Amino acid sequence: MGLGGGVRKNLAAAMAQQWGKGSNMDYCICGSVTPVGEVCQYCKLVVPDSLEKIEMLSDFLQGHIPSGIIMSEPISCTEKQAADIIWFLQTSLFVLPDNIQKCDVCGSFYDEDSSGDCLDYGDPPYMFCDGCMDGEEYAEKQAAGKGE
Ligand SMILES: [Zn+2]
Ligand SMILES: [Zn+2]
Repeated sequence: MGLGGGVRKNLAAAMAQQWGKGSNMDYCICGSVTPVGEVCQYCKLVVPDSLEKIEMLSDFLQGHIPSGIIMSEPISCTEKQAADIIWFLQTSLFVLPDNIQKCDVCGSFYDEDSSGDCLDYGDPPYMFCDGCMDGEEYAEKQAAGKGE
C-alpha cells in the first residue's frame, strides 16, 4: 500500500519548507517533490504545472503514455470521453483544479485565471482560449450576445 493522500501532502509541505521554497512545489511524475517548472533531480524531467498535468492526463486517457510509465493495456478514450472524465474530476470530485478549461473551438487546454474567455450564453462554443479569441467563432458569438 502506498502513502495516503494526507501523508503525501504533509510530506510535500515539509519538503517545501526544508527547501525554503513556497507554494510552487509539486510532485514530479516520478513522485519526488520539486519546484514546478524546474528539472527534477531524479528523473531529469521538468515538473509540469497543473495545466500541463491536465494535458498529460488527457493524452494518457487517449492512449499516449508518458515515458517512464509502462502499461500493459493503454486506455483509449476518445477526445470527448477524456474531456468528460477531466470535467467530472474537476466539478464533481474536486480533485483537479477547475481553472483549467478546454477551448470549445480548438480543443486545447488553457488557464482561465490568466487567459481566454467564457461567453456563457446561447449555443456552444462557450469556452475560448487566447488564440481563438482572435477567431471568427468568438466574434460571431459576441455579435450574437449583443443581439439578445
Ligand atoms: Zn522526477
Ligand atoms: Zn482555442
